Amino acid sequence: MSVTIYKNANIDNQGLTSFAVENGKFIKFGKDVEQEYQDAKVVDLQGKLTVPPFADAHIHLDYVYTASLPSKETASGTLFEAIDNWSDSKDKLTEAEIKRRAYIAIKQQISHGVQYVRTHIDVTDPKFTALKAMLEIKEQVKDYMDIQIVAFPQEGYFAYKDGDKLVEEALKMGADVVGGIPHFEFTREDGVRSVQKGFELAMKYDKLLDFHCDETDDDQSRFVESIAAFTYFNGLQGRTAASHTCAMGSYNNAYAFKMMTKFKKANLNFIVCPTENCYLQGRYDTYPKRRGISRVDELTENGLNVSFAQDSISDPWYPLGNGNLMHQLDFGLHLSHMMSVEQINNSLKFVTYNGAKTLCVKDYGFKVGNSANFVVLNEDNAFDAVRNTASTILSVRNGNIIMQKEPEKVLTTYKF
Ligand SMILES: [Zn+2]
Repeated sequence: MSVTIYKNANIDNQGLTSFAVENGKFIKFGKDVEQEYQDAKVVDLQGKLTVPPFADAHIHLDYVYTASLPSKETASGTLFEAIDNWSDSKDKLTEAEIKRRAYIAIKQQISHGVQYVRTHIDVTDPKFTALKAMLEIKEQVKDYMDIQIVAFPQEGYFAYKDGDKLVEEALKMGADVVGGIPHFEFTREDGVRSVQKGFELAMKYDKLLDFHCDETDDDQSRFVESIAAFTYFNGLQGRTAASHTCAMGSYNNAYAFKMMTKFKKANLNFIVCPTENCYLQGRYDTYPKRRGISRVDELTENGLNVSFAQDSISDPWYPLGNGNLMHQLDFGLHLSHMMSVEQINNSLKFVTYNGAKTLCVKDYGFKVGNSANFVVLNEDNAFDAVRNTASTILSVRNGNIIMQKEPEKVLTTYKF
């Protein structure tokens, strides 16, 4: 295979450079690559911002476009109502129907430059309809996207009959990550027991962990401490993620600041879903209303890894969503009060590097020898990309173009 050179790339907002790709790998970076490979095909990126592909660390691809399915009308807009509605409607789904909807979402994600996805799949279903569909999809789309599947017991390890056994069976079937939802179990004790069970399974089957954790405004919901403790004491630093942690926005500072040191010892990954949780949380508040966001700024200042994720595309939990992580970034920065120039300039990591780190992707970013996976945004720099929620105009994977977009043309008639 011949060499391709990409020139005038503003890689990671660090200034213009060039790079060479051969056999699907990055082989050299620097302005002198053109002299070195004179027969190479040259692609001019025209100074556009070039970043690694977007990594969506939390979505439910088995739920996408089911917003209209629940038999009961959504009334309260709360998490727990949505889980009830889902429980009523999920029996009717077929593998073919789940695949049809998931492919629409995956194509939409690809159109927004996403190449790495962690999807939770509901395994509180003795037939494993969604899991079977997603295992096939994962294989079929691997040239376009890496998908990690979480064995996620939406209705609990213990609140649902034999939920713990279903999670184990899902891991045997090929799920990559152990999931859980401790704040949905009946008691605090059952919640902790579910976390413990999740860790036992992760170690037995050598899997990563990712819990839906404290997705509530209840300041007494503190399962994140159990997750940090089991991670630390089992030596699983870096392999565990706590998704949501909305209750952290309601914790008192003495508790939150104590926990920061524990989170660091556990090297816990945090996944925040800005649009989802600002929709679902604050529902029991009149005014003032809480924002449903974890302590993104404090976690980041403490060196912890935080990523922003989509979570839902038109499902019983959230009516909108389109797989565009630039939208999550926009919301996440607003809701977290992280809008200094420096914070904005450094913010793309929340939807790229940080998500990939949570997924433990090894072959990621601009390094010689890594897979030539990258995207080009339709702006020259990070600040303007964030300000304009820039669209992804090129997505390259293993050196091949998998998506290309014509930049929008604006025609005007004004005379000033
Ligand atoms: Zn979720």
